[in-house]
Amino acid sequence: MSDLFTRAQAVIPGGVDSPVRAFGSVGGAPVFIHRASGPHVYSGDRQFIDLVGSWGPALLGHAHPHVVAAVQEAAARGLSFGAPTEAEVELAELVIDRIPPVEKIRFVSTGTEATMTAIRLARGFTGRDLVVKFAGCYHGHEDSMLVAAGSGVATFGMSSSAGVPKGTVEDTVVLPYNDRQAVTDLFASYGDCIAAIITEAAPANMGLVPPLPGFNAFLKDECEKAGALLILDEVLTGFRLSRSGMWGIDQEVPYTPDLMAFGKVIGGGMPIAALGGRQDVMDYLAPLGPVYQAGTLSGNPLATAAGIATLTLADNAVYEKIDRASVALSNGFSEALTKEGVAHTIQRVGSLFSILFSDRPATNYDEVATQDQFRFPPFFHSLLEDGIHLPPSVFEAYFVSVTHDDAIIDQILEAAPKAARAAARAS
Ligand SMILES: *Cc1c(COP(=O)(O)O)cnc(C)c1O
Repeated sequence: MSDLFTRAQAVIPGGVDSPVRAFGSVGGAPVFIHRASGPHVYSGDRQFIDLVGSWGPALLGHAHPHVVAAVQEAAARGLSFGAPTEAEVELAELVIDRIPPVEKIRFVSTGTEATMTAIRLARGFTGRDLVVKFAGCYHGHEDSMLVAAGSGVATFGMSSSAGVPKGTVEDTVVLPYNDRQAVTDLFASYGDCIAAIITEAAPANMGLVPPLPGFNAFLKDECEKAGALLILDEVLTGFRLSRSGMWGIDQEVPYTPDLMAFGKVIGGGMPIAALGGRQDVMDYLAPLGPVYQAGTLSGNPLATAAGIATLTLADNAVYEKIDRASVALSNGFSEALTKEGVAHTIQRVGSLFSILFSDRPATNYDEVATQDQFRFPPFFHSLLEDGIHLPPSVFEAYFVSVTHDDAIIDQILEAAPKAARAAARAS
């Protein structure tokens, strides 16, 4: 396994095609996977129970036979046409049927493209430049979203990556998450320059940080009053938290986002993503409107087939099962940590959770960052040793699938006491 990592590092920067896979924050060599099935991934002659789930897409478990068959059948008919297909229309109809704020939808290949296009579209539609994002929210790696928050209330344009021109992030404002006052203050000063607020429907890329009750509806209100658009990024939460994503379980105070972004589960493991929303805004996209967007492989027939198969199988029973598995798992982890006296909080939204190593729940990135991060690497490596493949960062969510049944959850929890002891010993 580490031989392969050495070989990989010689030809691929860091040996990986996406940075978090490199185990940078936990140390050691990443697990190279050659096969996956249901709740398991396989590396060499070892079997692991997987809680990464391809970072979300594997809602139905790995290599679900119906999804694989759909992709194989599509492959036999041709890999890519560069012309419209009936399957794209069918997938569009499936999404629109589940998520009423989506009146029209456009398919792209990655979540990054979906949010990037949504932002361009919001700017084109409103004729304004400023985009507001929240510290700790991830929207993919397009230049304008690679900004870090400073210590002030609002930060204008500090790039968090080399290679991003200053001018590109000047029009991105970063605010602390869940902070209504910061939003109100910003809109009071700059309301008529703001094209959009983009927010994760439920932030899950700094660990889980639930929106305070009514926060998303509040954002929509502020946007509407100022003539700006609300872009709800459901790339991770869409079709994972319910049939209609986070939006579907976040309606105590009802709201309708103007644009939404999807990825991950929508392709069941194949590269497809989408942006959708209000018809008048979506029709601003080329060829109808002046905002350009295109893609050689957009709406790819294999990816579209996987998406249709996945969404069709993802009924309410699937979500109920995943909710139960996720609660059993987080309760078990929590009990083990409590027994060892490890300060922690289970941060949860629906079936998504993360373990925060602090006894105070976190509501924003600053609070997440001050947890006992040093407890995670030994916790992680103890579980890995015992055959549990966890996301290799304290800032990531745990992903269960419908194939994580009681027996699998029990197997994971058998390894929890040892991991909790390792976390307790850490300093
Ligand atoms: C994963 C993710 C993205 C980016 O999607 P990619 O397919 O990796 O480009 C965007 N937003 C959120 C909330 C995500 O979790």
